[in-house]
Amino acid sequence: MRHPFVPVALLLSLPALPVFGHDEPAPPYEQMLKIDAHSHVFEDIPELNRLLRAINLRTNNICNDGTDGYLEQMHAIALDLYEHHPDLYPFTSTFDLLQIHSPTYTKDVIAFLDRTFEQGAVAVKIWKQVGMEIKDKEGKFIMPDDPLFDPIYAHIASRGKPLQAHLAEPIDAWLPLDPDSNHYHYYSKNPEWHLYGKPEYPSHAALIAARDNIMRKHPNLVVVGAHLGSMEHDLDGIAERLEKYPNFYIEVSARTRNLTRHPTEKVRALFLKYPDRIMYGVDGNWKPYKYPATEQMRQGHINRLELQYRAEYDYYAGKGEMTYNNRKVEALNLPRSVLDKFYHENAIRIFKLDKAWYGKPAGKAGE
Ligand SMILES: [Zn+2]
Repeated sequence: MRHPFVPVALLLSLPALPVFGHDEPAPPYEQMLKIDAHSHVFEDIPELNRLLRAINLRTNNICNDGTDGYLEQMHAIALDLYEHHPDLYPFTSTFDLLQIHSPTYTKDVIAFLDRTFEQGAVAVKIWKQVGMEIKDKEGKFIMPDDPLFDPIYAHIASRGKPLQAHLAEPIDAWLPLDPDSNHYHYYSKNPEWHLYGKPEYPSHAALIAARDNIMRKHPNLVVVGAHLGSMEHDLDGIAERLEKYPNFYIEVSARTRNLTRHPTEKVRALFLKYPDRIMYGVDGNWKPYKYPATEQMRQGHINRLELQYRAEYDYYAGKGEMTYNNRKVEALNLPRSVLDKFYHENAIRIFKLDKAWYGKPAGKAGE
């Protein structure tokens, strides 16, 4: 598994390249343009739109998933949000995983994705169901690097779109439930994704190797590893992939809490060494088409999002001790130039957001 030519253990202990340029102090929260590179907003909520504009935050709004039967409806909502608010909700499409046994599967998926690209989709999402849920006719799990998907990956690469990949899970999914784990709540509530004691499932290492194999087979495909590329426990492993795969990027959504558990200097070293490869994200989930919502739930969701966006800015841009998720942690105090890349420059470049924000008919912009 380990790359033979890179002394991986040393990657993050070497001094980072000096950071040149505008290294003035971090701007106040509202002044920093923030892009949540991993968001799921599936309702046009005026109060949320107002909040995002007030705090200077835009999203990459991700369609997910491919087996729940809502594929068309989900994309229709994402498109509608994008057409009404192109500055807030550029969207990432996804593809069907129910018709994998159809002889025209890849052709149909490619046609579907092309339609979403014409509508403005900036990327394509693939979810952990690939490798952990869908199976072939013999009952074996279909892995993310299965040849079935090669024409789809090649097509996505040829269209210049990134593949945003949530493949595998945090390592905790394969370990006994631990109340001190960041993921205890999720695996307690979603036992179907908790794989400890289920040897019939692929291992974490096998899934990560399959994800890496996609990048090996498709070197032109830009892969954005969602949730720290499911390697939240292993910063050296992240650095190893960033060295080995020049088109690999990561975003931190739902894993800032994991970063806060690593030594601050080591996390900082990762950001300073790979400032062009890491993007901000949160992974808020609002899908009332699937889970009917009350006004109280809606308000609660908006309030929690706002608190999280602020707390995370304090962690990345702040200095000294702070409280995150009820724990005392040390803020990262990233230099301004690194913060700018992390909070918006990388996402704008990788998802071509400047085009997405202004590429729609003028009459529909910014209501
Ligand atoms: Zn997500």
